[in-house]
Amino acid sequence: MEKYNEGLERQRSKRKRVARMKKFIVTTIVAFMLLTLCVMTFLCIEVISLQRQVDVLSAKVNGVEDVADVKEMVDDSYLDSIYTVDNSNNMAEEGDVPRVYLTFDDGPSDNTNEILDILDDYNVKATFFVCGKDLELYGDMYKRIVDDGHTIGMHSFSHNFGEIYQSKEAFDDDYNKIHDLILNTTGVDTHLYRFPGGSSNTVSTTPMSVFINDLNEKGTVYYDWNVVSGDATSQAFTSDQLVDNVMNDVVQYKTSVVLLHDASNKDATIECLPKLIEALQASGAMILPITDETTVIQHVNVVQ
Ligand code: ZN
Repeated sequence: MEKYNEGLERQRSKRKRVARMKKFIVTTIVAFMLLTLCVMTFLCIEVISLQRQVDVLSAKVNGVEDVADVKEMVDDSYLDSIYTVDNSNNMAEEGDVPRVYLTFDDGPSDNTNEILDILDDYNVKATFFVCGKDLELYGDMYKRIVDDGHTIGMHSFSHNFGEIYQSKEAFDDDYNKIHDLILNTTGVDTHLYRFPGGSSNTVSTTPMSVFINDLNEKGTVYYDWNVVSGDATSQAFTSDQLVDNVMNDVVQYKTSVVLLHDASNKDATIECLPKLIEALQASGAMILPITDETTVIQHVNVVQ
């Protein structure tokens, strides 16, 4: 009888052990499955976020023309507000006299006086989008630009993309500095602006609509360009090639805003300038400084 009871007890404890082991195995499997699910969810989120970053970077590397494409990838909320400006009504028609606006960015520099001398020789007025420079070295040149009858506009104080496009506040600080510098050196209260890199630049990490809205609210007009001389590209054009680049494009438009640079290392710009003015004048084009009446040429703008 005792033996029988002992056997029963052994069987019961064996069953208990088996049940415990089963429970342990099932718990382990469920825990493992849950953990795998968590890791997979986390990895999926990581992959999606990385894919977005890759899209934005490759768009920047490939120099996507349409800013809206980049904005879409950066922040969908800006998709509606920014658009590529349609300049189709600016295409030249038979009998049009082309209006050409020569614009010089990045000055004043060691070249400014020479550029002003050439413009003076031909009695041609142009537009200078200037930056903040050492007043001891270049202070007189801001003044000479205005005294010679040219239009002066802002091209940021620092020309440092990382700084000015950091935030609206940073942009405003820089804006006020260049605005006041021009006012103090020339007496001109300018409301003309050219964005470093243009309004369609893909370098700014802040959506350009932030700064475009800011300028629109200030009543400041920004001008981009529709004719590129090529004097700022990595390709070193000869002065004759710079002239050809401009002349080939100018014939296409009623209003041409030509991008040139007033910078110390741009000797080809100085060399091409007399030839360019002569070619433009021979073609019957009018060379004018930007005024309030000038057709505004912009790459992108925001929906009001
Ligand atoms: Zn510039």
